[in-house]
Amino acid sequence: MGNIISSKEVSATLRAKIRERSLALQENCGIQPGLAVILVGNDPASQIYVRNKQKACEELRFHAFEYKLSENYTQDQLLDLIGVLNKDNKVHGILVQLPLPDHIDEQTVIRTISPEKDVDALHPTNVGKIMIGDYEFLPCTPAGIIELIDSTGVSIDGKQCVVVGRSNIVGKPMAMLLLHRNATVTICHSHTHNLAEICASADILVSAVGKAHFITADMVKEGAMVIDVGMNHDENGKLCGDVEFDEVAPKTSYITPVPGGVGPMTITMLMKNTLHAAEMKRQK
Ligand code: NDP
Repeated sequence: MGNIISSKEVSATLRAKIRERSLALQENCGIQPGLAVILVGNDPASQIYVRNKQKACEELRFHAFEYKLSENYTQDQLLDLIGVLNKDNKVHGILVQLPLPDHIDEQTVIRTISPEKDVDALHPTNVGKIMIGDYEFLPCTPAGIIELIDSTGVSIDGKQCVVVGRSNIVGKPMAMLLLHRNATVTICHSHTHNLAEICASADILVSAVGKAHFITADMVKEGAMVIDVGMNHDENGKLCGDVEFDEVAPKTSYITPVPGGVGPMTITMLMKNTLHAAEMKRQK
C-alpha cells in the first residue's frame, strides 16, 4: 500500500508560516493582507469554495472582502467592480470564482484584474512569467501539488512525469512547474492515443481530468507516485477523485486521497499568494 500524502499536515505547516508573516506585516508595517472574492450566481460547489476561502482568511487574520452577486449581474458591472478593487489599497488579491455564467466572458474578466492582484495567476502576464520561470505568483493548485510532492522527500529532478489534462488552471501550469523542476513531462488530453500505456510509464502521475474511476490499476507503474486532482461525485453522490483509489493505492509509493489531498492545498496557496501580494506592496 502506498503512503498516503497528508495534505492536512503540509497545509497546517504552511498556514502557520503564512499567519506568522501576515501578523509581522501588520505589526511592522500596518498592512493587513486583503483578499477580495467575487462569486457571480448560485453554483453550489462555488459557494462552498468561497466559504472555505472566507474561513481561511479568518484563520490567517486576512481581511476578506466578499462579493456575492446575482446570476444577472452583467459583464460591464463586473468589470467596473474589478476596476474599483484594482485601485483599492486594502485589497491585495482579487479572485473571481470560476466558472462564470455564460453571458460573461472569462478571459475578458481575467485580463481586467491587475496582474499584481491576480492571486490565481491566470492573467496572461502572469501566465507568461510562469512560462519563462520568473514569476510573482504560482497557480494555486499546481503549486500546492509541488508542495505535496516535496513533502515526501522524493526528488522531481529527472523523473518521468505524466499530466493528464491540459486546462489553463491545472494541467498546463502543472506541466510547466514540473518542467521547471527538471522533470521530463508528457501532457495527455482527450485526443491522446495509448493513454494507459503513457500513464503506466510515469514515475509521477498527475490526473486532472474530472472523471470518476478514470485512472485504473493497469495505468499505473509499480512504485509510482499518484496525484489525484479530480473532484467528482460517484454513483452514490460521494466526493471522489479521478483515481480508482482502492485498486491503485497498493501499487504506488505515494498517493493523494480525495477528499483530503490536493483540495486543501489550493486554498493555502491562494493565501500564500495574497500574502506575497501584500508584501510586494510594502516593498514598493
Ligand atoms: P477541465 O474540464 O478544464 O479539463 C479536463 C481535462 O481533462 C481536459 O484537458 C480534457 O482534455 C482532459 N480529458 C477529458 N477526458 C479525457 C479523456 N478521456 N482522456 C484524456 N484526457 C481527458 O478541468 P480542470 O482542469 O478545471 O479540472 C480537472 C479536475 O480537477 C476537475 O475534477 C476539477 O473539479 C478538479 N479541480 C480540483 C481542484 C482542487 O483544488 N482540488 C482545483 C481545480 C480543479 P481536452 O483538453 O482534450 O478536452
